[in-house]
Amino acid sequence: MSLEDLFKEIIIEHYQHPKNYGHIEHPDAKADGSNPLCGDEITMELTFDGNTVKNVMFTGNGCSISQSAASMITEAIKGKTIDEIKKLMSEYMNMLEGKDYDSELLGDLEALSDVKRYPARVKCASLSVAVLNQALQDKK
Ligand code: ZN
Repeated sequence: MSLEDLFKEIIIEHYQHPKNYGHIEHPDAKADGSNPLCGDEITMELTFDGNTVKNVMFTGNGCSISQSAASMITEAIKGKTIDEIKKLMSEYMNMLEGKDYDSELLGDLEALSDVKRYPARVKCASLSVAVLNQALQDKK
């Protein structure tokens, strides 16, 4: 299997069977956002233990890129501190913008690396980053 096929498979798997899909009853932070160019919508809810993300759930609808990114990002940030999450999101944005990035740190998220070749889709892949940043600012 080529790397490209493997990446496609990871995206489809996260799209069809999203991780962390649903709501948290009493979230410490919540944010939503949309990408009107494509019709993508994402809402994220988080709970924290100090500066560490204890739990995160999302709901949304839209294209496979936006929804699989939300699934992968929520999976990647669980149990991480806010500083670790900021570092991870900055590496992820580097990847989407075609810059050098730390592939080991990104894990499954690297499946979205091809998005950089389609500038219109970068907004789909980065919607969750915008929503997450807003949620982190909203943290009580
Ligand atoms: Zn989209």
